[in-house]
Amino acid sequence: MNVTLDAYEPIVGRDVIDQLFQIAAPLKGMKIVHVNSTRVGGGVAEILNKMIPLMNALGLKAQWEIITGTSEFYQCTKNFHNALQGNHVVIPETQLREYEEVNARCAEELRGTLEGADIVIIHDPQPAALIKHFTNRKGKWIWRCHIDASKPYRPVWKYLRNNVEDYDASVFSLAAFAQPLPHPTYLIPPSIDPLTEKNIDLEPEEIATVYDEFGIDPARPMILQVSRYDRFKDPLGVIEAYRLAKKFTPTLQLVLAGGGASDDPEGAVVLEEVKLAGRDDPDIKVLDLPPDAHRTINALQRASDIVLQKSIKEGFGLTVTEALWKSKPVIGGNTGGIKLQVINHHTGFLVNTPEGAAHRIRYLLHNPDEMKEMGKKGKEFVRENFLLTRHLREYLTLMLILWFGNGDRIELDRLDWRTNERS
Ligand code: UDP
Repeated sequence: MNVTLDAYEPIVGRDVIDQLFQIAAPLKGMKIVHVNSTRVGGGVAEILNKMIPLMNALGLKAQWEIITGTSEFYQCTKNFHNALQGNHVVIPETQLREYEEVNARCAEELRGTLEGADIVIIHDPQPAALIKHFTNRKGKWIWRCHIDASKPYRPVWKYLRNNVEDYDASVFSLAAFAQPLPHPTYLIPPSIDPLTEKNIDLEPEEIATVYDEFGIDPARPMILQVSRYDRFKDPLGVIEAYRLAKKFTPTLQLVLAGGGASDDPEGAVVLEEVKLAGRDDPDIKVLDLPPDAHRTINALQRASDIVLQKSIKEGFGLTVTEALWKSKPVIGGNTGGIKLQVINHHTGFLVNTPEGAAHRIRYLLHNPDEMKEMGKKGKEFVRENFLLTRHLREYLTLMLILWFGNGDRIELDRLDWRTNERS
């Protein structure tokens, strides 16, 4: 009987839980180390918070390490991020040297932990260069790219690729993002945890608290976008869409809810731009939330009529998954992982422009039955495809493949990863 995983049974069914234990059995005791560069803010931190305890609940020995850099390091890694998502960015040599130095220092700090690991999962470019300092590694190293790297700016990708090609495998969120690499690449979309503060059911009274707290009128329609203040999330495009839709629905309110991530140096600048753009309209609320405002975000998502995620580029878009799970139709940018989740006319609408978004806002507000129907479909779609239990199963399967994949077939009850032998 395992309390942590049993809690998911009412949501996903017993078979799903039993299957996880079955797949995890041959991996029992295996030491897994995840490494990224922030414990709060952004999708990766959100996932690892729960992935680690669940791996442990399945009998693995999972832990989460972070690397911490200097402001020049974060400038550099933000540039990597922007360049992987297609921006033409020339990164100064001094930033690249700082990137390498931070990775060299962190490699020494983490040496004991990473050398003792059977599987190391490195998230995104920030810690990608650690591998250069572990030439005699015994464990399998996986690079997990969460970014839309479908059309990277080539010179920057060439630099990063030099680090990434040393890994045993890489994982991307969808096929379009996968870059040719000299090792196997796998596709594993991210997930949300239905039992976290961000996603659990809330009582109507708690949902109602956000109306008072942020001056939202519960009697009037409200649309919402939750995201870090990042230009790729197109907050200004959201304001434009809202203004266009408001011409037809003058009672409309917009909430932009966001905050910073400690590894994102551009957030404050973008927040100021957004505040400036919205300051003439009291029905636009621009919220700068602390990183632990999970219940507030949950309540805002539940309080809204429609959720927007009008990104221009998006790795996956956990905010979309979160909104669908709360039975909200989502109007999303026609890009990246949003396309996996927003099934046009079923779970929401994909749009390319503020005009397109405004058109769909107007349409949905005039068709409340359809909104409800889409919301229902969205929730079931997430239950089937984007919950943590599915994500966990795919990670476990990947670990099995990396350790036992040289055999003709994998018989779960006859494997021992310590000897890599079939008993
Ligand atoms: N998030 C948050 N506070 C904020 C902004 C975002 O807690 O102010 C959360 C959001 O609910 C989601 C995650 O951070 O769980 C963002 O993940 P997503 O994949 O949408 O975007 P990323 O920030 O990773 O690009």
